[in-house]
Amino acid sequence: AADAAMYHAKTMGKNNVQFYSEDLSRVVHQHLLLEASLNRAIRNREMALGYQPKVDLRTGRIVGAEALVRWHSPERGVVGPDQFIPIAEQTGLIVPLGDWVIAEACNTLRALTAQGVEDFVISVNLSARQLRQRRFVEHLEATLREYSILPNALELEVTESQLMDNPAAALEVLARLKSLGVRLSIDDFGTGYSSLSYLQKFPVDVIKIDRSFLGDVAGDGNAVIARTIIALGHNLKLEVIAEGVETQEQLAFLRDHECDQMQGYYFSPALPPERLSSMVCSGVRMAV
Ligand code: C2E
Ligand code: MG
Ligand code: MG
Ligand code: MG
Repeated sequence: AADAAMYHAKTMGKNNVQFYSEDLSRVVHQHLLLEASLNRAIRNREMALGYQPKVDLRTGRIVGAEALVRWHSPERGVVGPDQFIPIAEQTGLIVPLGDWVIAEACNTLRALTAQGVEDFVISVNLSARQLRQRRFVEHLEATLREYSILPNALELEVTESQLMDNPAAALEVLARLKSLGVRLSIDDFGTGYSSLSYLQKFPVDVIKIDRSFLGDVAGDGNAVIARTIIALGHNLKLEVIAEGVETQEQLAFLRDHECDQMQGYYFSPALPPERLSSMVCSGVRMAV
């Protein structure tokens, strides 16, 4: 409801805020405060990336990581992306923020390579607005060149709903990204509704099973859904990764059903880059 309210306030223009109830104007006020401090935060380098390791379920080795943005706000403490990404999207701040996220992930990739790490993939999350940006592909290409990153070391995560919003436009951007050589994945798979015919057309490499389907894999219908997604991915020659893995039971289920990779608190939360690199360099493995 707050979202809808904000949307309304936005379309009406900021000067019309006084016509709304006190509640709504408080919501809008909070939003404007957040917008202002978010703007400052990006300039003041208060953003940081945490890297959640991704583990190969056959070998137990760390083969990549997902970059997840955090805001270390002097006033608010550590703020999670769910609290500011939607505002960054509405205000357009997501464009500079998203550029920073990609550059920072490339910087970490370059540092890992310098330490002798090979075949490591870092994924970043994209927002719909970044994908729609005219010069996104060119800008990405320039960033890869600037940091001397092999394109297949970078993976871009997009959600089903972002793709299905305008499938024809999405298909075009994905094709251009794919021809750059970056990896593409569909995040939160199963929570939106993608048409199976599009799934086959999108040039993606990976599907990520949303954690809502791992809930009680030992019991009810979730097991059927998780198994079906793994089979669907493999039949389309895609890699399948499960996110939000928290228990030994979920791990055993995924291993038994030949899911390719996992990430989740069971193994590790998102880590600062130095901790990721010391884990990877010391060859830590998960027991599988
Ligand atoms: P996501 O891409 O689906 O990321 C997975 C979320 O699940 C992350 O939350 C992660 O910390 C959390 N998670 C990981 N393992 C577990 C687990 O075992 N159990 C549970 N309960 N949760 C787990 P986070 O970091 O709060 O990110 C939330 C969402 O914010 C992300 O969902 C992504 O959509 C968005 N996001 C994060 N970073 C960025 C970014 O740099 N750019 C954009 N556009 N969006 C981002
Ligand atoms: Mg993601
Ligand atoms: Mg996800
Ligand atoms: Mg999610």
